[in-house]
Parts: sequence; C-alpha cells; structure tokens
Amino acid sequence: MNKVVFLDRDGVINYDSLNYIKSLDEFILIPGSLSAISKLSQHGYNVYVITNQSAIARNLADISIINDLHQYLRESVYHAGGHIDGIYFCPHHPDQGCHCRKPRTGLIDQAVAENNIDVGSAVMVGDKLTDIECAKRAGCKRAYLVMTGIVNPLKQIENDLFQDFFQSAKTLFHAVDLLVYEDKTKSR
Ligand SMILES: [Zn+2]
Repeated sequence: MNKVVFLDRDGVINYDSLNYIKSLDEFILIPGSLSAISKLSQHGYNVYVITNQSAIARNLADISIINDLHQYLRESVYHAGGHIDGIYFCPHHPDQGCHCRKPRTGLIDQAVAENNIDVGSAVMVGDKLTDIECAKRAGCKRAYLVMTGIVNPLKQIENDLFQDFFQSAKTLFHAVDLLVYEDKTKSR
C-alpha cells in the first residue's frame, strides 16, 4: 500500500485570503509548493488535497470555478514533475452542519474509502488547528502544522491535546523535507 499525504489547500499550497479564493487571479501558489508536492510523488507518496470551500455555499464562487482552479493546480503540479491523486472539497456553509467540513472527517473518510488508503499510516499537512483536529479524529498517524496561513495556528492551540500529534514546519516545502527525511531514517 502506498504512503499517503493529505494536504490542506488554502494557506498550505496557495496563499489564503480572508475574502476567499474566488478566481484564478486570487489563486497564488506559495513558493516551494509545487516542488514539495513533486518531491512527495517522487518518493512514492500519494497526495490528496482536502479542503473546505464554503465560498461555494456563500455564493462567492461557482463550483465550476473551483473545478477550474483544481485543474490548474493539477496541471501545475504535473509540469513540476508531481501528481495529485485526488482533490476532495466541502462546498457547504459552516451553519449547514455537514459531515465533510473540517474538523469533521467526511472528506478524509471518503478519500480513504475510495482509494483503499491505510489511514493509520497517513500524514496531514495543514495551517489550522481544524486540519490537525480532523487528521487526528480521522485516525491519521500524525500531522505537520505550517506557518503560511493567515492566523498563527500555534495561538489556536491552547491545550496539549494535539501536542504529540503534530510538528510545526515553516512551509509545505519544509514539512515535506522533514517527512521524507524522517521516513527514510525510520526505514533504515
Ligand atoms: Zn461539507
């Protein structure tokens, strides 16, 4: 079974915005993201993007625009030598109480069921406490918390519930470096 990494999108792969990402113009990749994803592919990891996109329920972004953004992301990763194996997004408003909006686990559960993933060995990279909480609830092995989001996520974590579960990293690029290094060290 392949190794699996779940990636949050906004604030991890591309810059997040308080006004939501509603067009290709607003979808700006964080430096190092593409090469980080390529590095994962080249080291045998399958990559799944797991993202909340309430802009759809808020009528700020049409679902076709979200699909266009994801096509652009897939092609950009492909040209950098990597591969995205799946993109799962929650289109709902927080008030809808759906099962897929992180920190709920619906998106990861769906990815796991559709792709025969061993969730207990999977890793999540996120920029928010909700990503870490989602990964923990879904049964992932561990997580990386990156510092490229809008809010400093370490300020969101007031208790030590997740302290043993995640590690901080400056960016996705740094998180992938750590992950690949640690997996290599362990398999020696
Ligand atoms: Zn949802």
